[in-house]
Amino acid sequence: MRVLVSGASIAGPVLAYWLTRYGHEVTVVERSPVLRKTGGHAVDLFKPAMDISERMGVLPRIESLATGTERITFLREGTRRPISADATKLFGAASDRHVEIMRDVREGGTAEVRSGDRRGRVAFERAPAGVR
Ligand SMILES: Cc1cc2nc3c(=O)[nH]c(=O)nc-3n(C[C@H](O)[C@H](O)[C@H](O)COP(=O)(O)OP(=O)(O)OC[C@H]3O[C@@H](n4cnc5c(N)ncnc54)[C@H](O)[C@@H]3O)c2cc1C
Repeated sequence: MRVLVSGASIAGPVLAYWLTRYGHEVTVVERSPVLRKTGGHAVDLFKPAMDISERMGVLPRIESLATGTERITFLREGTRRPISADATKLFGAASDRHVEIMRDVREGGTAEVRSGDRRGRVAFERAPAGVR
């Protein structure tokens, strides 16, 4: 089946990966003129995201990009002193699996999807003009 996925942020490429893995021909369109890169913005992956990443075979790559943040400092306007917290304990309380990486989505083009003897390509394209 040919499938058009709208949005190349998190859910779109993951859905495209799984659909391609099950033999569908997938194109992902993104309305943003450039696939988003948010510079210094970090994202935290907790157990569900890590489990899925593991099943997709990308967890070692993700873990290799771990920021290794040990402390988080909160600065509140109007207060004199910042509050500092142990990041490992903070995230550990939320989930028994966690990794923090910098958010940085891939540039357009195509991505090869491989799983065992199943292979496919996901095409990332800019959404046609007029798509809102
Ligand atoms: C400040 C902030 C920090 C966050 N930190 C974390 C975190 O640490 N860990 C975590 O798990 N989650 C975090 N989240 C939540 C996370 O960002 C969202 O859950 C996630 O982005 C949802 O992914 P998505 O692909 O469903 O949607 P989105 O990320 O919203 O992506 C939708 C995409 O679709 C595109 N699009 C929309 N309409 C169209 C159209 N008509 N045609 C083509 N393309 C279209 C958009 O341009 C966008 O790229 C954070 C959110 C914010 C705002």
